[in-house]
Amino acid sequence: QSAMPQGSVADPAVYLKRYYGYDRFRPMQEAVIRSILSGRDTVVLMPTGGGKSVCFQIPALMQPGLCVVVSPLIALMKDQVEAMHLNGIAAAYINSSQGAKEIRAVEENCRKGQIKLLYVSPEKLLSESFYTFLNSLKLSMFAIDEAHCISSWGHDFRPEYTQLNTLRRWFPNVPIIALTATADRLTRQDIADRLAMHDPAVFIDSFNRTNLSLQVLPGTNRIGQIAKLLSLKPDTSGIIYCLSRKSCESVAAKLIEKGYSAAYYHAGMDPNERARVQEAFLRDDVRIMCATIAFGMGIDKSNVRWVMHYNMPKNIEGYYQEIGRAGRDGLPSQTVLFYSFADVATYKDMLTENNPANLQVQLAKLERMQQYAEANTCRRQILLSYFSEQLAEPCGNCDVCRNPRVTFDATVLAQKALSAIIRLGERVPMNTLIDVLRGSRNYAIVSQGYDKIKTYGAGADLKFEEWRNYLHQLINIGVIEIAYENHYALRKGLLADDVLFKGKTISLVRPDDVPKPVVEKATRT
Ligand code: ADP
Ligand code: ZN
Repeated sequence: QSAMPQGSVADPAVYLKRYYGYDRFRPMQEAVIRSILSGRDTVVLMPTGGGKSVCFQIPALMQPGLCVVVSPLIALMKDQVEAMHLNGIAAAYINSSQGAKEIRAVEENCRKGQIKLLYVSPEKLLSESFYTFLNSLKLSMFAIDEAHCISSWGHDFRPEYTQLNTLRRWFPNVPIIALTATADRLTRQDIADRLAMHDPAVFIDSFNRTNLSLQVLPGTNRIGQIAKLLSLKPDTSGIIYCLSRKSCESVAAKLIEKGYSAAYYHAGMDPNERARVQEAFLRDDVRIMCATIAFGMGIDKSNVRWVMHYNMPKNIEGYYQEIGRAGRDGLPSQTVLFYSFADVATYKDMLTENNPANLQVQLAKLERMQQYAEANTCRRQILLSYFSEQLAEPCGNCDVCRNPRVTFDATVLAQKALSAIIRLGERVPMNTLIDVLRGSRNYAIVSQGYDKIKTYGAGADLKFEEWRNYLHQLINIGVIEIAYENHYALRKGLLADDVLFKGKTISLVRPDDVPKPVVEKATRT
């Protein structure tokens, strides 16, 4: 046990200092580590850059046996493991990029107990020969990184992850730790279920990155708007996320033409060229990176001062992750999303064309993203409510807070909607709810007897589209929720009881006061 640090061996802080050089744990890390050390299955939800690695690496170092880390990012494994070596951590990886000889050498080192953490891809982990190999070792735990990939409710579902449910059967006594940066409530539950976890401890770190300003701008004359924004931030580094490879290249070209230091990055490029521009960005030789979402994963650049979305992201998880690459040093940083309805239409076409197994989920996530972009209430409240976190007051650091819309007291309106939702057993989707509120006599309503409930027709004074708009606003502020798992039925949100029973008042914006999004032709490769 010569690798053990000096001092109290049972103290995780000693390991933090010795292997990572830090004096203090971040608020949630130590609690997570204690949970893992107690042998309990554990789910960790922490924003990117929050410090998830320490959470499982320290218990792996503290316990006898091998920790097997499942990661989908084969391209990053080598870098991650090399970084750990520099910290003096005995880590290795096995994936499809290696030859048989190299793999045998790693396996041999594991058998000799010389490795504490072994990174593998899910495909590799689940092969029969690998099972035999693992079965011959003492295992401390499984750490499932990017665990949202296991859930079809997640935004990055990977079918090969679903096979991980066999881990519990194969190794019933080895604790499982699932880590992710982005998972809404349903995805979280799904992760625990699919991994067959026993009564897991769930840790959710705050997603509130107060140093990031949030702003949505209409998607017209974007290059002109970008140039204006950049003129206020000379010599800063930032990322412009674009939907297509072609637009990465054309946006970069236009900015270079205007005299900016810009480059582009996408998956269609030669790997050497990609590595070169990434390196140039890290060294501040290039200031502006026009990139697809392929850029940024695993990149630890702390002084990214701004992130812009040339196109709207497909879902809030992705958006949150991408803006999270700004301001990792904690200093004020700006995020801008250009919204045009054309992007929504483009995604809908793409999704419908590809017809993935979780098409409905993806469409619903797209709609939430659209609601965010069109919202008239504090954007941070919307973001946080998406991750089931509540922000009591509007943030003051988003475009809506800085430029408030004209509102009216919509408390009664909210109560009518909630009351109808409850009387309908929290079972009906938005369109049906609106029909009930407006007293529609269509067959679906009458045949279910919905015309007999007390709030039937209570909202007949409003048009269908007005109700739709108000309900979206109520969802965005957490009064109402969408039950994705229950056919998109509307149900009470976090604030519902306050509105119904505790005298909480609600303000909404009239649809006519909302600037209409500009429809523009989208470009696609
Ligand atoms: P995640 O995997 O959650 O995105 P990482 O584990 O890569 O985040 O950690 C992000 C950064 O924070 C790393 O540079 C890491 O060294 C640093 N870090 C982690 N824990 C601490 C701590 N307790 N004190 C200071 N820095 C920390
Ligand atoms: Zn705000």
